[in-house]
Amino acid sequence: MAANDTRLRVAIVGSGIAGLAAARILREQHDVTVYERGEPSVATGGQGIANFPNSTHILESMGFDYSRAGSVELGGWNSVDKHGKYLYNIDYSMRERYGAPLVSHMRVDFRTELLRLATAPAGNLGLDASAAPATMVWNNGAIDLDAESGRITLEDGSVVEADVVIVADGIHSRLRNKILSEPVSAQKTGLTCCRVAVSAERVEQALGKLPRWWQDQREKGQGYMHLIEALDGTSRLTVAYPLRNLTWMNMAWVFQTRKERASTTESWHADGDKDEILEVYDDFGDDLKTMLRVADQVKLWELQDLEPLPTWTSGRAILIGDAAHAMTPLQGQGSNMAIEDADGLRLLTQPGVTRDSVPEILKTVESVRRPRATKVLMNTRSTSKISSAADRYAKFDENCTYPGILGTLKQQAAAS
Ligand SMILES: Cc1cc2nc3c(=O)[nH]c(=O)nc-3n(C[C@H](O)[C@H](O)[C@H](O)COP(=O)(O)OP(=O)(O)OC[C@H]3O[C@@H](n4cnc5c(N)ncnc54)[C@H](O)[C@@H]3O)c2cc1C
Repeated sequence: MAANDTRLRVAIVGSGIAGLAAARILREQHDVTVYERGEPSVATGGQGIANFPNSTHILESMGFDYSRAGSVELGGWNSVDKHGKYLYNIDYSMRERYGAPLVSHMRVDFRTELLRLATAPAGNLGLDASAAPATMVWNNGAIDLDAESGRITLEDGSVVEADVVIVADGIHSRLRNKILSEPVSAQKTGLTCCRVAVSAERVEQALGKLPRWWQDQREKGQGYMHLIEALDGTSRLTVAYPLRNLTWMNMAWVFQTRKERASTTESWHADGDKDEILEVYDDFGDDLKTMLRVADQVKLWELQDLEPLPTWTSGRAILIGDAAHAMTPLQGQGSNMAIEDADGLRLLTQPGVTRDSVPEILKTVESVRRPRATKVLMNTRSTSKISSAADRYAKFDENCTYPGILGTLKQQAAAS
C-alpha cells in the first residue's frame, strides 16, 4: 500500500463487543479483517448485559436494531428486602435525561446484532456501497504482534500485515504485553458475581406464576431494574433485569469470594455452582431461590479489574475494550467503555487519514479514551462508597454524558 493511500488495512484481534463495534465503525472507510481464536458462536458468557446512554447513543448511530436483539428499555428501578417487602420504586427515564435509553439484552443477542453490523452487506445497513463487510477469520487467534510494523502472527503460523492493529482480545489479553513495556495482568477484587438467566416458562412451571415484580413489568410492557437487598449489614444484593422482550430474567448475585476458581485466569467466568449461592442467600425469599434452582444458565465470576495502564498504543497498534481497561460490573460500564472505544476509532475515518498518519492518530484516540476510561474505572471502584441518591445520580451524570470522541475534541478545542 502506498503511504498516502487513504483506504487502510485494519486487523482487529478479538470478536467480542469491542472488536465487533470497532469493525462496524472502521468498515465505513477501510478494509477490515477480524481474527478470532474461537468459533463463530463464541461469546464471553451467556446471561444479560445492560447498556447505558453513553453507549446507546453510539449504538443508535451505528444502526443497532433493538428489536433484533430483543432489547428491553429500563424505565427505572425498584427495590424489595430479602423477604420481598417493598421498599421503593423510582421512575427514571434515561432517555428523557440523556437523550438515549438504558437497555438490557441477552449477551448473545447483543453480540449477534453487533456481528450483523460488522458483516452485513452495506445496502442492508444504509451504508455507502464502499463500506465493505468486515472479513471474519474464526478459530485462528493471534499469538504475536509487532506493533511498529503492524504484523501479527496467527495460531496457524501465518503472518499478516496491517496498517492498523486493534487489540480487542479481552481481560486476559495475550497481545497487551506487546504494547506495554512492563507486563500487566488483571487482579481479583475479592468479590464473586453469579449471573443467572431464567425463562418465564421455567419460572411459571416451578412457581405456578411469575413473581409479582416480573408480571407487573410484562403487563406494563416496561422493564425495570429490580434490586433485592439484604439490609442486614452484609453486602449481599441481587439485581434482576429482563431480557428478550421480557420473556427472560437476568439475575446477578454479588458476594465476598469464598473459594478461588482456577479457571478464572482464562476467562471472566467459571461454571456456576447453584449450591454455593443458595447457601450464601439462604435467608432470602423462597420464590427467588426457586428461580435460581430452575435457572437455565448459571455462571460464577470472580470479579477482576486492571490497574490503569500507562499507555494503550505502540506504533500501529492500540488496545481497546477489556484488554485496555477491564473493570468490574458494579456500575455496568465495561461494555459501554468498549463501545465508546470503538467510537474513538472514528478518528481513523476522518478525511486525510493515511498509512503514515496512523501512529499519531492512535495517540490522539488514546489521549481522549484513556483518561475517560480511567475515570469510569475509578467510579466503578468507588461504587460501594455511594451513600445517597444524589451520589448515584452524580455518577450517572458522569458516566452517561460522554459526548463521543468528536464531541470531546471539540470541547477541548473550545476550551483552549
Ligand atoms: C459478571 C459480569 C457482568 C457484566 N455486566 C456488564 C453489564 O451489564 N454492562 C456492561 O457494560 N458490561 C458488563 N460487563 C463487562 C463486559 O462484559 C466487558 O467489559 C466486555 O465484554 C468487554 O468486551 P471486549 O470485547 O473487550 O472483551 P470480550 O467480550 O471478552 O471479547 C474478547 C474476544 O477476544 C477473543 N480473543 C481472546 N484472545 C484472543 C486472541 N489471542 N486472538 C483472537 N481472539 C482472541 C475472545 O475469544 C473474545 O471473543 C460484565 C462483566 C462481568 C464479568
